[in-house]
Amino acid sequence: MATSLQGLTWHVEYDVAQPPPRPSPKHLRFVFVSDTHSTQPDVPEGDALFHSGDLTDLGSTPSFQHQLAWLASLPHAHKFIIAGNHDFGACTRDDWYGRVGRKIHEKYAVPAADTAAVRGALAAFEATPDKQHRYLEDQVAEFELGGRRWSVYGSPWSPVFGGWAWNYERGQEAEEVYKDVPPKVDILLTHSPPHTFGNLDVLTDGKTHVGCEVLRDKMANGDLRPLIHSFGHIHEAWGTHAEKWEASTDETLLINAAVVEFDMGAFVQEKRLHYKLVHPPVIVDVDPSQIH
Ligand code: 5GP
Ligand code: MN
Ligand code: MN
Repeated sequence: MATSLQGLTWHVEYDVAQPPPRPSPKHLRFVFVSDTHSTQPDVPEGDALFHSGDLTDLGSTPSFQHQLAWLASLPHAHKFIIAGNHDFGACTRDDWYGRVGRKIHEKYAVPAADTAAVRGALAAFEATPDKQHRYLEDQVAEFELGGRRWSVYGSPWSPVFGGWAWNYERGQEAEEVYKDVPPKVDILLTHSPPHTFGNLDVLTDGKTHVGCEVLRDKMANGDLRPLIHSFGHIHEAWGTHAEKWEASTDETLLINAAVVEFDMGAFVQEKRLHYKLVHPPVIVDVDPSQIH
């Protein structure tokens, strides 16, 4: 594994009370976070903030409002967020919430989400004055910074696990979900990690990999070569992996930016979701003159 990539330096473990300074005034600072699950970690300052889904504990209307108000209040001028399998109230594709999500909310005694109100909260987030805020659902966005235009693609899906929001069957359905991802996007946000690659999808047993095979294959065969790929979902596989691709000048920094630990014991016994903040957001300092 490479420990440096051209134009990128990153910080994974650091004191959030005193984040490391930028290497130089010309460096941009991108901050990556995922799986906040309704917690609100300290976030270091930066030019752009990226959230890779599982914003909330279970996607109720108030949990969206709470989390989006917090994200909107952070100082970063550019923010790009996606949903994850827990963010029920935003999953209106094919009326998933009406057909499926509502019943799961009932089961966990969560008041039914008002999907129109959730859309309203997302629209209000995007309309925050003097900031570029985008909620991405299989969409591209761009921003300008440091004399360069940066592209971002965001997708909320993950392989089926419990049949929650934005779940796809591994295989053909996964191909369909990711078919429109631009091959050379600067920043790719997905909720799921790629399978095995970089070990950022391994469960606590240290050997079971549950990331997406299609994301792995597309990267390995060169169909997908983002500069940075940030995701979460598999909380215990938090960390980074830097790849210099063989027979190519492409380089990719992969980030599992999940910041919480899930207390499974409490979930089984009390049917309540408990999360503990255990990691800081990942800082990536970027020298735009070194990025092609
Ligand atoms: P979440 O419920 O927040 O989406 O995921 C929380 C945890 O559930 C992960 O950290 C991981 O331990 C487990 N998990 C998520 N997706 C899968 C999966 O596809 N297979 C297995 N075995 N576990 C998963
Ligand atoms: Mn999660
Ligand atoms: Mn998840």
